[in-house]
Amino acid sequence: MTERASTFVAKSTVKATDLEHRRKINFNISKYNAVVPQGKIQFEDLPLARQRAKNIKWKALETLDHQLEAFESNFTKRGGKVIWAENAEEALDEIYRICREKNCRTIVKSKSMVTEEIHLNKFLKEKEIESVETDLGEYIQQLDDEPPYHIVTPAMHKSKEDVAKLFYEKLNTPPHLSPEKLTQVARVKLREKFIQAEIGITGANFIIADTGSIAISENEGNARLSCSFPKTHIVITGIEKVIPSLTDLALFWPLLATYGTGQKLTVYNSIVSGPRQPNEPDGPDEMIVILLDNGRTGILENEVMRESLYCIRCGACLNACPVYKNIGGHSYGTAYSGPIGSVITPQLKDMQEWKHLSFASSLCGNCTEVCPVRINLHELLLYNRAESVEQGKATFNEKLAWKIWKRTSLSRRLMNMGNSSIKNWMVNKLFKGWSANRSDLQFPSKTFNQLWKERNPGT
Ligand code: SF4
Repeated sequence: MTERASTFVAKSTVKATDLEHRRKINFNISKYNAVVPQGKIQFEDLPLARQRAKNIKWKALETLDHQLEAFESNFTKRGGKVIWAENAEEALDEIYRICREKNCRTIVKSKSMVTEEIHLNKFLKEKEIESVETDLGEYIQQLDDEPPYHIVTPAMHKSKEDVAKLFYEKLNTPPHLSPEKLTQVARVKLREKFIQAEIGITGANFIIADTGSIAISENEGNARLSCSFPKTHIVITGIEKVIPSLTDLALFWPLLATYGTGQKLTVYNSIVSGPRQPNEPDGPDEMIVILLDNGRTGILENEVMRESLYCIRCGACLNACPVYKNIGGHSYGTAYSGPIGSVITPQLKDMQEWKHLSFASSLCGNCTEVCPVRINLHELLLYNRAESVEQGKATFNEKLAWKIWKRTSLSRRLMNMGNSSIKNWMVNKLFKGWSANRSDLQFPSKTFNQLWKERNPGT
């Protein structure tokens, strides 16, 4: 087992038995579960809407080169700049170069998983540039010096009491403030930063090819301020976020809102198509979009895995996943947690280092069931498992265990050997990991053959 896999097992083991953690996660997910059905009512034919969304993403990814070129050409026509970054280092270097050019000391940042993927905040801190998270959940996480816990709900594992305590400790607010008061405190602090910041950094929920725009959905208005207040706006986004046409948003916006948070539509939906134009009263002087590959074209090359790039990061598969609900987001040790994280991380990074995530699944299929763009997540988890075995990345013990299991399962004589006490002893000693947090496996006292003979005398 790699060190990373051991860390994953150790962290998961602690979280899975932490009942307080489970209570908070279940509480927050139950609120989500209560509203999602209401959001779904807006679709006259939901299965058709999901299939259409999948088809649009299929088309976008099958023609990705053309879509991205169309985006670049349309976006640059309105004065925007596009930077193509092959990996995280290139993206970070470009951001730092722009920061130096602009003499930037403070950045306001709206929620973006891609910036988590490339560890942007850590990088900027090393360069002594202040990067302030402006989404409330991300702000809470930044105050606590923790990465986001969930793709959509960064502080999902915290109760309102936890947040009040954190503000009390870090911002000297009175203890036990209500959520409304806490929000007001954050708002005052963040307004100052919006005014100070030279650069705003956002992600993009969608890159729109035919108009050369990016679309951002959010509930707090902070992304809108990050786009428009500072003189420079940098967008960093994965290349897979592209959709062919502006009209596709009519489907993707309600789908993302419903599956992400149970809303019919997210509160603020912005379409940004370049820097401020001569006839416009506000907006940044400069807008730069960084199109990040960072392993995505490797996934694109693989015909089976390609559909994992359809993901619109709604987080529904995390909320539905029994593994995520028990071990929480931080155990995964990667920006993308839950089923989609377990699918793409070994592909984006390194199979040997990250394959354990694809094995940490019950394969119940609930993730596939809830995915708005119908990604076959549980099939892709199996695909990763198969690929890791084919690449010879299974351990000797694992191969031996499966060989013994196969040999025994195919032989009635071996299955019938020994009595139940011997089998119980053997299995429970062999699979200590199983019995550490569960009752021991118990074999029945009689074999199938014995029971059959007793119940069907003379056969
Ligand atoms: S894989 Fe599907 S359910 Fe999971 S985050 Fe992506 S779009 Fe949502």
